[in-house]
Amino acid sequence: MRQTNVLVIGGGPAGLSAATAAAQCGARVILVDSSSRLGGQLIKQTHKFFGSREQRAGTRGIEIARLLQEEAEAARVEILPETAALGLYSDGVVTLEKNERLIKLKPERLVVATGASEKTLAFANNDLPGIYGAGAVQTLMNVHGVRPGQRAVMVGAGNIGLIVSYQLCQAGVEVAAVVEAAPSIGGYAVHASKIRRLGIPILTSYSIKAAHGGETLEGVTVWQLNEKWQGIPGTEQVLAADILCLAVGLTPLTELLWQAGCQMEYIPELGGHVPWYDENQQTSVPGIYVAGDAAAVEEASSAMVTGKLAGLASAHSLGLCPDFPVLGEKVRQELTQLRAGPTGEKIRKGLGKLRARSRPGAM
Ligand SMILES: Cc1cc2nc3c(=O)[nH]c(=O)nc-3n(C[C@H](O)[C@H](O)[C@H](O)COP(=O)(O)OP(=O)(O)OC[C@H]3O[C@@H](n4cnc5c(N)ncnc54)[C@H](O)[C@@H]3O)c2cc1C
Repeated sequence: MRQTNVLVIGGGPAGLSAATAAAQCGARVILVDSSSRLGGQLIKQTHKFFGSREQRAGTRGIEIARLLQEEAEAARVEILPETAALGLYSDGVVTLEKNERLIKLKPERLVVATGASEKTLAFANNDLPGIYGAGAVQTLMNVHGVRPGQRAVMVGAGNIGLIVSYQLCQAGVEVAAVVEAAPSIGGYAVHASKIRRLGIPILTSYSIKAAHGGETLEGVTVWQLNEKWQGIPGTEQVLAADILCLAVGLTPLTELLWQAGCQMEYIPELGGHVPWYDENQQTSVPGIYVAGDAAAVEEASSAMVTGKLAGLASAHSLGLCPDFPVLGEKVRQELTQLRAGPTGEKIRKGLGKLRARSRPGAM
């Protein structure tokens, strides 16, 4: 059985940052990712990132992925692409699958940075071919160079819905409308303005009633919602579309943490079920850390910082990183700054709830 100081599961911005931080402290680090290309969500983000300068705002997501991978390689992280973590067991063994072969690994410390999966919606015919999550559409267009269709309707006017609508237009797809159930647009005004300048209507207090088609999607019925978020009969509009794109939120991918017996909490503001974790990203199971969207659905900037914190803390717990008391505090302050202001309100509320839940083992 293979052994290592630190195993990082997930090679998105959180995992790459965790691996680099731990390796720079002198830990032997292995990073695995089920995908063939490292970077997680970043490999499909062709736009220049918002966020803070320290976390590379103004650089395109795909470029940030490349830079983070180079840093991990320079720190001598052993990277295993196309390697999926399948199970975490109570004896500390992790099972990995690569090329249809099973590998057993026993790390001294583990960082889980598996990201998040897309949520979906319940409506009539929601299984018709042509109905996608926004991330899937981005993968088709920006990773594989495939135009997903001719005319799209987007559901969700958060940043993801607005950015992917713009990218659909860049790919030559007509966007009929962006439909948003909330009474106001959730994404940044700068992204909404770009959509409006293209002449695309953003219908707030609207949702999907049904999808229509035979073999594939041909159109959707949208309708207005009342203050209880119920559809108002008589307000239906039928929009022709061969793509329906759902950008209605993400939920942390935490199956491995459930398996490991981590204490889990349901906190809607953090995206759903998340593990309990302390101020250094350590879960209720000593030696298992969590970072990025798996800990709380946020942004790449905070994913990089929580990853760095988990990497430093895991190395420190192995007797490395003697400067951790100072360094860790600096990184936590970076996080506080990232989460300041109105855009961080939801995450601050969620983390407040998480911290209020009893610390594992506490009476
Ligand atoms: C359209 C869109 C636009 C965005 N724009 C911005 C922006 O402008 N600024 C910003 O800061 N953020 C932005 N974000 C958010 C940002 O991309 C995410 O918050 C960030 O990528 C989360 O990083 P992560 O490392 O936690 O997870 P991910 O990036 O999702 O990476 C997780 C990785 O884990 C791997 N993995 C999962 N399970 C396993 C397993 N069992 N075994 C092995 N590997 C596994 C996956 O293959 C993946 O590579 C955007 C997101 C989207 C979708």
